[in-house]
Amino acid sequence: MTHYGYAGNILKVDLSNGKSKRMETADYSDRFFGGRGIAAKIYWDLVPPEAGAFDPENCLICVTGPVAGFNGFAGSRWQMCGKSPFGDREAFSYANFGGKWGVALKYAGYDGLAIQGKAEKPVYVLIENDRVEIRDASPYWGKSAFEACDMLKSEYGKGFSVITIGPAAERLVSFATILADDGSSGSAGLGAVMGSKMLKAVVVAGESRPEAADPERLNDLAAQVREITETAHYEHGLWKVTESFRYQVCYKCGIGCGRHTYKDAKGRKCKSLCQATMFYFFPILAYSGGEDHETRMLGTRLCDDYGLDTAVIHGMVDWLAYCHRESLLNERQTGLPLSKIGGPEFIEALTRMITYRQGFGDLLGEGTIKAAESVGERAKARIGDFVATRNSETKDYDPRLIPMNALIYATETRRPIQTLHESVELLFRWISWANKEENATFSSHRLRRFAERLWGSEEAGDFTSIRGKALASKKAQDRAYVKESMILCDLSWMKIWSGYFAENIEEPALECQIFSAVTGKNVDEAGLNWLGERNFNMQRSVLLRQGWDGRKDDQLMDYYFNQPLRKNELFCDPECIVPGKDGEIVSKEGAVIDRQDFETLKDEYYELRGWDVESGLPKADTFDRFDMKDIADDLNERGLIR
Ligand code: SF4
Repeated sequence: MTHYGYAGNILKVDLSNGKSKRMETADYSDRFFGGRGIAAKIYWDLVPPEAGAFDPENCLICVTGPVAGFNGFAGSRWQMCGKSPFGDREAFSYANFGGKWGVALKYAGYDGLAIQGKAEKPVYVLIENDRVEIRDASPYWGKSAFEACDMLKSEYGKGFSVITIGPAAERLVSFATILADDGSSGSAGLGAVMGSKMLKAVVVAGESRPEAADPERLNDLAAQVREITETAHYEHGLWKVTESFRYQVCYKCGIGCGRHTYKDAKGRKCKSLCQATMFYFFPILAYSGGEDHETRMLGTRLCDDYGLDTAVIHGMVDWLAYCHRESLLNERQTGLPLSKIGGPEFIEALTRMITYRQGFGDLLGEGTIKAAESVGERAKARIGDFVATRNSETKDYDPRLIPMNALIYATETRRPIQTLHESVELLFRWISWANKEENATFSSHRLRRFAERLWGSEEAGDFTSIRGKALASKKAQDRAYVKESMILCDLSWMKIWSGYFAENIEEPALECQIFSAVTGKNVDEAGLNWLGERNFNMQRSVLLRQGWDGRKDDQLMDYYFNQPLRKNELFCDPECIVPGKDGEIVSKEGAVIDRQDFETLKDEYYELRGWDVESGLPKADTFDRFDMKDIADDLNERGLIR
């Protein structure tokens, strides 16, 4: 039987007993269609809510979406989900990867891989079509992520795709990452979960190819996307540091976003992309008075090689610099060369000490917030200058500046970057216009048209009030869960939307047409967003069953309420300018989120989601509408439905 867009099977591997079995993708994809949606449902089925992140029952679920393997749609990314050890509580979380590994899994015949149990000694999983083996990883254990990847690639050949963990994950550093092909990496502390399972790597190859229901239409759509992206103003050179950097898109992306790779001294491909490449930029400027690309790229390479999340190290470096300036920490106390923050010696020492849990590095391995709590009140009081989330992730896209992001942050267990990008992409374009940059045409008027089209009202384009923001947050989330389930790369898709809708504001969205051409299931824009909303509700159910206390836990960090926004606080908008009520240019310097406004937003949002306003818990009839009665029954038995 042909499963258009899908390989047809999900592979389950139990590291405790060495057994593997296949589950049918259709049992999951019929309702949850791919990526995050399928992963949340597999997690729901396999993992008891009381299982801890490092318990064998915790499950690492790697999933692609139906578009993976079809060129031209930036649709071959993949997700890893599971209970994360990181942050203020252990909770279901997720990481989104580029590279080739996800497609390789599909080529091997699997839409997903669920790994449960715990091995007694280091192992790796080898998957080659029907061949599934759990193998001894002793020669690779203790090696860095790049080294282990090199060794496995030279053993199996270039046709195999590899994910590995580094020594930070082996030592259960709470924000340890996983490294995939071409320097791609995934965060949310799921590397530590791999480490807890004694799982060093997963090596995959296969010969299957997914089939589309309507290949001709899919080709036409790819041409349409190409046309849009050719005419949009793409900044393909953004992450190019020197001439030796090569523009290289993820496998089967076909669009691109400025992602570059370069070769390190050993000839390995390393990435240059976005925050991962920029996290040490400002400390370097402050230290050396100028750019120092080598040290900047060294920082990224060290994080990838040890397996540390740059989004956490970013805020941590800034916080350590502050503590040093204010004499809250010194070099003797920490064993870190704090006077050299911005130089190579510091980043080498910091990443090494965290990875090997040496001295002060052991405390830092729990994240910046926990470290600040232990250093003392003054260090803790300024934490809001350095981190944005309960998980110590770096500051960006602040809800004091962009009010629709308040609920987006509050209802997620980690920095939901794929959702945040939506408002930010538009704001960036508008700031260029407000600053009268050459060729910048994204005026307040255009932004308001977009707000109406994407977020449900023109009012949502007024960044100075909460009017229309609950609906805007919900719409952005539902669309993000479509992206995270199909899986479409948000770095490209927001640009596609802005290029497409600019001229075709009433046309049906492209992603629906792509979904239909791949799967053969006809769905319009509202229908696809409805599927995204169901997947969001699925993830919410997993969180509730794990102890997320609805309304009480839908929270922001305190500083958003009591620390006025300062000029130059946010790299994305140093002047804090936003579009106001009538599209005028307004500064939000000094803004805080009003607590009552935030509670009002929650009221509106729960209403829009069909959840109980008082508790933030779902209602049974809402879940009936989403064909999630089985989930509602389980929640009901636990008193988690109204
Ligand atoms: S847009 Fe960039 S990050 Fe996204 S899939 Fe393409 S190359 Fe990879």
